[in-house]
Amino acid sequence: MDCLFCKIIQEEIPAAIIYEDEKVIAFNDINPQAPFHALVIPRQHIRTLNDITEPDRELVGHMIMVAAKLAEQQGFAGDGYRTVLNCNEHGGQTVFHIHLHVLGGKAMGWPPYQAKLKTL
Ligand code: AMP
Ligand code: ZN
Repeated sequence: MDCLFCKIIQEEIPAAIIYEDEKVIAFNDINPQAPFHALVIPRQHIRTLNDITEPDRELVGHMIMVAAKLAEQQGFAGDGYRTVLNCNEHGGQTVFHIHLHVLGGKAMGWPPYQAKLKTL
């Protein structure tokens, strides 16, 4: 299968892996958007958030727990951090193997979109 993240899991493409277990791996994002920016991905290929099914419930919960564990290890759990799971074009998804972004180490802006104020 021609999937970048499956290739990272199969060690065909190198990545800076910072965590792994039987269900997921986490590695540093190649283009970090914060002092710490990692991706938590399932070993199982799931294309988008829309493709998650009932049997994946535990796996997706595990991805979130690993994100929290990384934040704790990195020392910014208390200050706070951002987790993001982009879906399809409007969500800004560019790699079609689900991945949970974990960003931390600085305060981040919110929200990502603001409607234009109506002017009279
Ligand atoms: P998204 O836009 O939500 O699909 O996020 C894809 C992320 O994967 C981006 O933040 C990219 O910087 C990151 N990325 C792409 N290729 C690699 C790679 N080879 N190793 C690590 N991260 C990557
Ligand atoms: Zn994949």
